[in-house]
Amino acid sequence: MPQTAAASGDAPIVRIRGLKKSFGTHTVLNGIDFDVAPSQVVVVIGPSGSGKSTFLRCCNGLEQPESGILDICGHRLFDQGRMLEERALNALRTEVGMVFQSFNLFPHLSVLENVTLGPRKLRGATKAQAADAAMALLEKVGLAHKAQAMPASLSGGQKQRVAIARALAMRPRVMLFDEPTSALDPELVGEVLQVMKMLASDGMTMVVVTHEMGFAKEVADVVVVMDGGAIVEAGPPQTIFSTPTQARTRAFLQAVL
Ligand code: ADP
Ligand code: MG
Repeated sequence: MPQTAAASGDAPIVRIRGLKKSFGTHTVLNGIDFDVAPSQVVVVIGPSGSGKSTFLRCCNGLEQPESGILDICGHRLFDQGRMLEERALNALRTEVGMVFQSFNLFPHLSVLENVTLGPRKLRGATKAQAADAAMALLEKVGLAHKAQAMPASLSGGQKQRVAIARALAMRPRVMLFDEPTSALDPELVGEVLQVMKMLASDGMTMVVVTHEMGFAKEVADVVVVMDGGAIVEAGPPQTIFSTPTQARTRAFLQAVL
């Protein structure tokens, strides 16, 4: 059952029905139904190996599902065995921002160049336009003073904030986060979550895989619990955290809280 969309009545940004994905004989996503409404923040939780990363990777075409329907940002990314063709897929990826656990900054480029590269190469921005927009985003994530720094000189929290600014520079319609704070020292987690909270309150549509239950409680509109390649339960954080109906949700929460 798809989780409830926000009461906006707008067309969903993400609409997924019956999504399946296997690696060899191993079924990793076993019929996922999932909706995200504009400006909604969906937090995905669940044990390691439950299929969370594979699910996010399907959403921007990094993995090809086997069956089901996946609509995102007004594109039919996947429909019963057929994937969007390569050119359209590249266009789609500019609308779907992705932030990984491991930052993935370009090590040989400065912070500013990391943030301006996409808009210059893929959006046809001039150097000056891209730099202005990038500086505004770096300001927003608190790193304008690091514009000329190289990634290696930054802390993990700073690297991840640059990665977020870089994704935002493409003006995505939805942001996907795959455990964005899991590689950080504990004292650096807060600064990244703070930036994500700001994005959420700005109205960004977000799907966030995280083990940060405090963030889920505070920011999520909907919490989705995955286990064994399926969504076992979904609902508002108050419900999921205080009165989960599924034994598998209770077991997971007991292990992490
Ligand atoms: P999660 O993010 O919830 O930890 P993943 O989506 O990374 O889960 O993985 C789900 C399952 O799929 C795991 O059993 C993992 O080993 C398997 N898997 C993921 N990617 C691949 C791949 N490229 N090839 C084979 N198996 C994979
Ligand atoms: Mg994962």
